[in-house]
Formats: sequence, C-alpha cells, structure tokens
Amino acid sequence: MNRPLAIPGLAADIRAGRRAALARAITLIESRRADHEAAARELVQELLPATGAAIRVGITGSPGVGKSTTIDALGMYLIEHGHSIAVLAVDPSSVRSGGSILGDKTRMARLSAAEAAYIRPSPAAGTLGGVAAKTREAMLLCEAAGFDVVLVETVGTGQSETAVCDMTDFFLALMLPGAGDELQGIKKGIVELADMIAVNKADGDNVGRANRAAAEYRSALRILSPRSEHWHPPVLTYSGLTGSGIDTLWQKVLDHRAAMNASGEFAQRRSQQQVKWMWSMFEDRFKARLRGDAAIRAKVKATEAAVAGGRITPALAADQIAELLR
Ligand code: GDP
Repeated sequence: MNRPLAIPGLAADIRAGRRAALARAITLIESRRADHEAAARELVQELLPATGAAIRVGITGSPGVGKSTTIDALGMYLIEHGHSIAVLAVDPSSVRSGGSILGDKTRMARLSAAEAAYIRPSPAAGTLGGVAAKTREAMLLCEAAGFDVVLVETVGTGQSETAVCDMTDFFLALMLPGAGDELQGIKKGIVELADMIAVNKADGDNVGRANRAAAEYRSALRILSPRSEHWHPPVLTYSGLTGSGIDTLWQKVLDHRAAMNASGEFAQRRSQQQVKWMWSMFEDRFKARLRGDAAIRAKVKATEAAVAGGRITPALAADQIAELLR
C-alpha cells in the first residue's frame, strides 16, 4: 500500500459495494503506519453519512459454546430473508498471538461461501482498546458497503464483552446446557450486559438439560434489575446445529429494536456509544503519545518508579505526566 491513497475513489468503491475495496479499506484501518492512520480517519469521515443503518448484534460465549456454528446458521437464515451480513470479531487472544481464532472463515463453512456475507477476522492491534477501535471502524465501513446486519463475535472475557456491548445495539450471550455451570455467567457479570441469553445445543439428548439451564437463567435474571425498563432480557433455547429456534432468536432481536425505537432508547444508546468511543480514542491517542516519544517514555518510567517506591503520590505523578504532554 505504498501508492498515494485516493480516498474519495476508495470511498466511492465501498459505497458501490465493491468487496475488494472494502477489504483494502479495512486493511488500511488496521495499519499502524501514521500516514495510513491519517488516511483511514479521512476515509471513515467521508463515509460517515452512509453508516448507521445496520442492525448491530454482539455475540459472546465461551470457546466451544457454538458461536461459529450459530453465526453460520443465523447468517444463512438472514440471507434467506434478504439480508446481507458482515461478521467481525474482537478476539482478546489476537492481541497476544497476532492471529485470531474468531472470525475465521473456515469455522463458518456455508456463510463464507455466500455472496451476501463478508467475514473478517479480528484485527491484531497492540491493545484490546486498539482491537475494539479498529473493529468499530470496520463495522462502519461494512455499513457503508451496504451490509444491513453486522454480527460482532467475541469470547467470554469481561473486557472484550464490554467493548463489543459498547459497539452494538443488541448483545447476545450464548450458554451451554451443561450442568452446574449455569450460573457462572451471572457471576461474571455477563448477564447484566446481555439483552438475551440463548442456551445452545438444545437438540437430541440435550433438550432437557438446555431447558433446565434456561429456567435457572430466567430465575437468576428476575433478581437482577434490567438494563432497560422497556426490555426484560428473554432466555431461550435453540440449536445452531439443526437451526431449530434460530427464527425465534432473530425475532427477539427485532422485538428489541422495536421496543428501543418506541422508547427512544435506540437513538440514546447509539449517541452515548459515540461519545464513549470518542473518549476511548482520546485515551488511546494520549497513551500512544506517551509511548511514541523516547524522552517522554523515560520520564514516565522514572515517575512510575517514584510512585512504586512511595517517593511521590500517584496524584502528583499524574499531574507530572499530564504536564509532559502539554
Ligand atoms: P465456538 O468455539 O463457540 O465457535 O463453537 P463452535 O461453533 O466451533 O462449536 C463447538 C462444537 O460444538 C463443535 O463441535 C460443534 O459442532 C458443536 N455444536 C455447535 N452448535 C451445536 C448445537 O447446536 N448442537 C450440538 N449438538 N452441537 C453443537
């Protein structure tokens, strides 16, 4: 990508739904080269009016719960109903390994072969905040390219779940019908984020166990105060493998959208997310400046050591670091 970048042309190609342009633009967004970052900002700004129309759904669950099976089944169901689907991912393990398991095309066999789907694995940026920021921008590009449903996959770790919840309209927590671990999610706080809990693998011998798990989640949800007074997170069972219950699952997403629109919370949630994104990007830039300058880095290290050694207070140290960036 050493040629000068013609952003208006690239933007036009994305708006025309050209897949190669979309892929190239997401690669640009994921780049950490300063000139690419500047070009990416210009591109997202240019495309902004064409964004926002998709239904954004976050999907979380432990490894093995059936996320890719579910996304494959749900994606195919939605395509049959006239939608086009983008699948993105926020994979905390990609931060360490540089590679991503989530959003891997081989895990979604039917969807990855479908014309109306676009699957992109998680970016591997330096921090989880960086990965989330890049995924948010990729989501905007997918919307500008005309995808009307964006599914964002993540795994059951608190931070990445919060990040995905903060970029989507509906947050879906997938659970296993297993015995004994039913309430695990509730301890982890995931249930407080979820707009719906769906117990997967409700097929064959698992049906009874899935129903019991669902009943436990339902009673646990009753004692938590819901995130919205206009939406009580439903608990349902389904099978990603057979596709049974996928239609009901999607209907709940639509019911939620209708309820949020009627109460005005939809617009409110989106605009609160925008402001939150702004601050999280501001923090990232701030930290990048601290890391980017060797002299500042040395002073920050010394200040850190002084705090660790109890020689100055954290408050004074924070003032000193802020002063370095003036
Ligand atoms: P992920 O790690 O959350 O993406 O989970 P996968 O989609 O890779 O599924 C993990 C395993 O569970 C695979 O062997 C799937 O075939 C199986 N699995 C996924 N969904 C279902 C389901 O609805 N029913 C049953 N019986 N198995 C499933």
